[in-house]
Amino acid sequence: MKLLVCVAWPYADGPLHLGHIYGAYLPADIFSRYERMIGNDVVMVSGSDEHGTPITFVAEKEHVSPAEIAEKYHKINKEILEKMGIKFDNFSRTSSENHKSVVKDFFLEIYNKGYIYEGKMISPYCPTCRRFLPDRYVEGTCPYCGYEHARGDQCDNCGRTLDSQDLINPRCRICGTTPEFKETKHLFFKLSSFENQLKEWIETKDYWRENVKNFSYNFIKSGLKDRAITRDLDWGIEVPIEGYENKRIYVWFEAVIGYLSATKEYGNMVGKPDLWKEYWQDKSVKHYYFIGKDNIPFHTIIWPSMLLAHGGLNLPYDVPANEYLKLEGGKFSKSSMHGIFMPEILEKFHPDLIRFYASLNLPELHDSDFSWEDFYSKVNTELIDKFGNFVHRVLKFAYTKYRMVPPVIEIDDQDYEALNKIRETGENMSKSFEKVELKKAFKEWLNLVYYGNQYFDKFAPWDVCKKDEEKCATKLHISLMIVKALAVYAYPFLPFTSEKVWSMLGYRENIEKFGWAEAINPVEPNKLNEPEILFKKLNYQSFDEWNKLDIRVAKILEVKDHPNADRLYLIRISLGNEERNLVAGLKSYYTKEELTGKYVLVLYNLEPAEIRGFVSQGMLLAAEDGQNVSLLVPTEKIEGIKVLANNVESKPNGLISHKEFSKIKFEIAKIEKNNEKIILKGKNGYSVNLKILENYIGNECVIVHEKTSPIVLNTKNGIITLDREVSPGAKVK
Ligand SMILES: [Zn+2]
Ligand SMILES: [Zn+2]
Repeated sequence: MKLLVCVAWPYADGPLHLGHIYGAYLPADIFSRYERMIGNDVVMVSGSDEHGTPITFVAEKEHVSPAEIAEKYHKINKEILEKMGIKFDNFSRTSSENHKSVVKDFFLEIYNKGYIYEGKMISPYCPTCRRFLPDRYVEGTCPYCGYEHARGDQCDNCGRTLDSQDLINPRCRICGTTPEFKETKHLFFKLSSFENQLKEWIETKDYWRENVKNFSYNFIKSGLKDRAITRDLDWGIEVPIEGYENKRIYVWFEAVIGYLSATKEYGNMVGKPDLWKEYWQDKSVKHYYFIGKDNIPFHTIIWPSMLLAHGGLNLPYDVPANEYLKLEGGKFSKSSMHGIFMPEILEKFHPDLIRFYASLNLPELHDSDFSWEDFYSKVNTELIDKFGNFVHRVLKFAYTKYRMVPPVIEIDDQDYEALNKIRETGENMSKSFEKVELKKAFKEWLNLVYYGNQYFDKFAPWDVCKKDEEKCATKLHISLMIVKALAVYAYPFLPFTSEKVWSMLGYRENIEKFGWAEAINPVEPNKLNEPEILFKKLNYQSFDEWNKLDIRVAKILEVKDHPNADRLYLIRISLGNEERNLVAGLKSYYTKEELTGKYVLVLYNLEPAEIRGFVSQGMLLAAEDGQNVSLLVPTEKIEGIKVLANNVESKPNGLISHKEFSKIKFEIAKIEKNNEKIILKGKNGYSVNLKILENYIGNECVIVHEKTSPIVLNTKNGIITLDREVSPGAKVK
């Protein structure tokens, strides 16, 4: 069977973040890998959406051309997808000549059929910028949900498509001016002609996800309006009609045609220019569209209408749109820079660790939440402890005892049960895959992992193998079969790991070739390779922020008034084998006598700065809660020693700027004990595992916030605390 898997086209205006991976790319890849494994012929396409206002917006901000922005992020995103193991047959781009010509042909075809007409439109015009503003250049309050940063085309909060004129308090996103609304001509697509046809078509889609179906219904219910498909912009695909030289085709209209153009391009790439027809004109070929929920109307309403207008091309079969991924409870977004960007996370983690946690957590029916703590915990306990250890225990035992796969001699009831479990797992997963319930399929796989552990524990080879050679061989073989089945069934989700286990089992050929059904067959009598540990356990803390800082204990030698400033002191400190001068704004809080001889903390690698004529070679660290100020002080008083965090020494890479330092979040917290657990009470309660804190219950400590968890400042034999009282939650400056 042939399948076309279409995946949303990411804007080339920034690097992909985890929300994109969860929302579209990973589910599409999991699904396609499974389909290929059961022998289907899959073509998976997508590409960079390089036109439109999202790109020009970033280009204007960074003072480069839109083409440069598009080029940069196309490359970055393509690389991210490859690293993540997301396997496209063609990941194209809308700036390609192929795409432009397919779009123009498509446009002319429906224009000639009378589905595109010229009309007048009231458009926002910015008198300050002296131009018509494309809808993304207008921002205002959503009339439906009250969200204050809705754009002229869509509200990111409630998902409704909007018109700039709908916005309450509209403003130009470049300069903030309230736009005027003026008349201008545009080309319109007759979306309204397809209302009934679409309604009937959607009614046949009883297998669609509830949210997708409901959303589409409601969209049609409120009436389909014709839509302008040209824009006042010079970045994009030219309109192949006279009189439109200064306008471009609306990015949404042309980007969706990318599914078709990328398939055509794929045919050209493999030397079969007519190949696309097999995927687009043969009615038995199913088209799946993997997208995030904000793209639903474009894929269940607008694109199908365009296809109907064109004629002769397949409509979507299923549109398994995903809900949103939230980050620690808040919304992920590329534009507001609240997210986990892929280059960053791929630098730290093996792609299968990211794929593993995502597979458990896909936002298929509801929004799901990404939390670092949960990420570490699930990866460590489920993937590494349960799966990794099981595979390693079995392979290690078999390798040590036999160096090859031992034969099955006689099976008992328990072994039958194991064989059934392997078969059932595959069948259940297949059922879920058919409904594109990928998370459910993955949980079946995880159940087999649990089962494998139980089977191996009951078998107790360390005991049995001393007494009963035949039973030992048989049970080890069955255990290896579970390992093999786990490798096969994991392939859609964890492709890198799956292939690694596969080769440790002694197989040479690619796992995809063997296929899904291979899981239930006995393991071939391969020679085993010495098993390697699949993953090392993750250390929960990241220390990224901490590693930027070099903080040391210093003794104050001398304090003088700053001659040019009322509130500043000039302070001379000793760091053991070095003395330094600092300028500090402490005069309103500490007398010279109080300071002299005191042990304090100094940020040692801060860029030196001139303050009113004197250079400050570092910064004294103090906590401030809005009323009170307290110096941070060491309980261990040794000049020059480096301050640690959770006993870890930082590895700073040169100097840190004031700006960079100000981004690092410190907090003051009180150390409390609750049911044998140490709790740090700051703005929130944090639990931190640091033995030294036992000696300081009731005292204040200083926390640095890392992405993964807070860490506590200490020295080898003491902690960092305060010399005066400030309220918990206070900040450090
Ligand atoms: Zn403006
Ligand atoms: Zn809204």
